[in-house]
Amino acid sequence: MYLKHLELRNYRNYAKVSTDFSPQINVLIGSNAQGKTNLLESVYVLAITRSHRSNNDRDLVRFGADFARIDGRVSRKLGNTDLRLVISSQGKRAKVNNLDAPKLSAYMGKLNVILFAPEDLNLVKGSPALRRRFIDMEFGQMSPAYLANLTMYKKALKQRNAYLKQLKFHQTKNLTFLDVLTDQVAQYGGAVIAARAKLLQDMGKFAAVIHSDITRGGEVLQLRYVSQVHDDAFGDADAATARLQDLFAKSRQRELDQGTSLVGPHRDDVQFIVNDRDVATFGSQGQQRTTALAVKLAEIDLMKQETGEYPVLLLDDVLSELDDNRQTHLLRAIQDKVQTFLTTTSLDGIAREIIQEPAIFHVDDGTLTRMD
Ligand code: ATP
Ligand code: MG
Repeated sequence: MYLKHLELRNYRNYAKVSTDFSPQINVLIGSNAQGKTNLLESVYVLAITRSHRSNNDRDLVRFGADFARIDGRVSRKLGNTDLRLVISSQGKRAKVNNLDAPKLSAYMGKLNVILFAPEDLNLVKGSPALRRRFIDMEFGQMSPAYLANLTMYKKALKQRNAYLKQLKFHQTKNLTFLDVLTDQVAQYGGAVIAARAKLLQDMGKFAAVIHSDITRGGEVLQLRYVSQVHDDAFGDADAATARLQDLFAKSRQRELDQGTSLVGPHRDDVQFIVNDRDVATFGSQGQQRTTALAVKLAEIDLMKQETGEYPVLLLDDVLSELDDNRQTHLLRAIQDKVQTFLTTTSLDGIAREIIQEPAIFHVDDGTLTRMD
């Protein structure tokens, strides 16, 4: 799939933009603080309905304006889809082909994006929360069932935590209701764990091939889902749910003492292993970057496998962070098949011979001008 056309109204520092894009590589070039990341962000928000760098939707609305609007035409194998997202003080409104899409599940997946920003190079050694967010965003885009289970899990978990807090402070002593909430959390949690383990296994296969290629066969990468639920229960949701029920039973007293849920996929993690060692602990910085790059590139293949279409790739300032060998692998992986938006302050130092016929846009103080 690719984004054929984009229109912005009062989005960040853009008052008004209307432009077509190349189905292949689009380079956004401009000095600092001109709006390159803002433009990439708008494509991300159109796809995901929320920003990767702000939790407050209000930040996306141009200073002094009362709404922001993003319109995009997505071209897919089966035809075009028009998406619209309007953000105002009344909240967000989404439309698909001019029809209201009140539920996120009816909207997500129409435009799939993968964003790669310099901070993604921290994927390996950053916090577990960062890795959970990463898999949840990616798997949520490619699997509506995963997104639905995750949303229900989070809702049930929140209720359960609130209830555990009430029990801790003796506002109630009714443990039957805790059992009801525990059943819900275990049911959705088991589904989340099984789906994560399965998708991560597939992602690991793609990542291992790419990683071996970048390191010229010198290193073997493996991805592992790390959970209190043991690997033997990863296979199906029911087994994972049963295992969660056991763990909840065992930790009940501790949970009552602490007033919060101590078990569940909200505490799980992903481990990256290179040549049998945890690369977060033992890997060099270069190995950690290579691992992050391989995992990001693997997402492209995984998304294709799960949805039948390649996603749109958003690369924010990453080429300058990679050496020639890694740049070459990145650009080869996307060449001719993945629509890419790439921001940079300068084309110097970018392996230009590999980028064939890019569409070049100059970004200057909230304006976008096509150069070629
Ligand atoms: P860099 O090369 O430094 O990464 P950039 O071109 O990616 O720069 P952006 O992050 O896109 O720059 O931001 C450009 C400008 O957008 C900033 O100067 C910021 O003040 C402005 N900006 C951010 N939010 C809003 C908003 N809601 N309304 C108007 N302007 C905004
Ligand atoms: Mg930027």
